[in-house]
Amino acid sequence: MPTNDNDDRTDQLAGFFAFCREWHQHHPAKTDAARQLTIDYVHERLAQLEADSELSIEVDTLGESYERRPIYIAKLGRGDRRVLLWSQMHGDEPSHTAVLLDLLDFLQLHAQHPSVRPIIDRCELWMVPMLSPDGAAANTRRNAQGIDINRDARNLASPEGRLLKSLVRDFVPQFGFNLHNQSTRRTVSNTRKVAMASLMAPPLAPGNMPTPSLTRAEHLAAIAARLWQRHAPGHVGRYKADYMARAFGEWVQSQGVSTMLIEVGGTDTSHAELLTMHFALLSSLLLAIATGAYEPPPAQGYYDIPLNGDFDRFDLALRRVQIGTTERGGRVDLGINWKSADRLSDGPLRQSTIVELGDLEPHPAAREIDGQHLAARAADTAFVDNFTPLAIPSHEAQSALARRGFATVVGLVDASDDRHVDALATMAQQPQLLHVAMMIDTSTLAAVPSEEHLRRIVGMVKLGATTIVVDDLNTASWLRSLLPESARLIVPAALPATSEQIAMGAARGWSLSTLPSPERPLLGRRADLAVANRFSPDAEMQMLLVDGHDVLDPARQVELPGWFCPPIEIMSN
Ligand SMILES: [Zn+2]
Repeated sequence: MPTNDNDDRTDQLAGFFAFCREWHQHHPAKTDAARQLTIDYVHERLAQLEADSELSIEVDTLGESYERRPIYIAKLGRGDRRVLLWSQMHGDEPSHTAVLLDLLDFLQLHAQHPSVRPIIDRCELWMVPMLSPDGAAANTRRNAQGIDINRDARNLASPEGRLLKSLVRDFVPQFGFNLHNQSTRRTVSNTRKVAMASLMAPPLAPGNMPTPSLTRAEHLAAIAARLWQRHAPGHVGRYKADYMARAFGEWVQSQGVSTMLIEVGGTDTSHAELLTMHFALLSSLLLAIATGAYEPPPAQGYYDIPLNGDFDRFDLALRRVQIGTTERGGRVDLGINWKSADRLSDGPLRQSTIVELGDLEPHPAAREIDGQHLAARAADTAFVDNFTPLAIPSHEAQSALARRGFATVVGLVDASDDRHVDALATMAQQPQLLHVAMMIDTSTLAAVPSEEHLRRIVGMVKLGATTIVVDDLNTASWLRSLLPESARLIVPAALPATSEQIAMGAARGWSLSTLPSPERPLLGRRADLAVANRFSPDAEMQMLLVDGHDVLDPARQVELPGWFCPPIEIMSN
């Protein structure tokens, strides 16, 4: 069978991919990768495109979501190859909405480009950027009814699912693109390489013979993988999923539409670059459809694309580290993840969690620490004498605490002192070595709560204060209803033992004292770990992990933009 790997068409696609990538990197108006997209924003962009368009981009309202938000469709092209593309049917998967909006910009700006002309002349493109505006507004996978639209292809209980189905029936596309985000930690095979893109030609029902339209979709996916490999080798996988009759990809495929699922995955570079790559990929696939470059089949076929791995990759793994004394404990691997910021942005790596513990040998990790000769315990919390927002322990003092196994220092802020409140705001802007937590002492405020007190306390919590010492239950319940969950209230009348220490300390002035830590690293807790060469409270620290970052060795740290006094849970077990 002839294959097209040495064909001019392959070179044309690769050249176009590189051109698109270059263009997107420098496009001044590309969708801001850091913002949460809304349907109003989509409308604003589409309206502008429609007004400016030399391409006669037609923008219509396709229908309404469950909460009556509009859903838009953009139509362009004058050919007979009908291509349907829809993004963000899962509300928290926005990447391809950005890609589609930028793709429309690109097609308009480069309508005369020799590789864009065939797309316009031979295709008719219908794009639905953001099929689930309700899910997008709430930043959740499901729609406003709590339905996963991509499991509603048979049932059609969601208005969004009904719109998609009737769109396929009205338009009768030959090609379909089902555009999603997947876990940013999923790998290719069981390697450490993260899947930047995962591809699938959704299968037909088991037992059904492959159809020409399915085969065409598989060829397109194989071409996509080949293009990706040239720019990011090893970072493209075949999406792993069984046949699901209730999923839209499968249903659309079963209608004779060559359908391809594209999942945006994770990245080791930046999310902006990840979006650029997906922009270049989708543009190139449209050219492949326009020129028929999916025939003859590529030498490296669809089933040669390596499958996604079985596990998500940890952000950090501490391998074979001793936890507990040798008699009572043993060696384990700790899997640590940072809370992922928005899928579109490169947020700061903060709020780490120990997400797995045990024999984690099969799980890859982005970063590894060999713990063979190390022992880890939970890091301690220190209450430091005279520590207020006006007198924060210096970097040197924090380093000294770090060497003794403290990951958190706690100070006291006087709620009645304006200078304390102002300094708290300044402190919140300054990166600290350790977790710097502030307890609010309300005893200096007048006993009767007032609007002014409330405003002050809530303001301080917004600036990073974590704990409020109050002296009566009424005030406590009044505050509890108004403060975020992360804020901790201490009421001396109802104190557990460890909190009592704090309240007593608050009452009599501060000296360096410690809160007993749970000793062992615990699942679900932050990765604040004191790591020494043996398990002993006075052992010399080899590493002090604060939120998974080693503060003793700057070489083992990573960039921490915007990292400052995160809210902490200093007393929960
Ligand atoms: Zn999805």
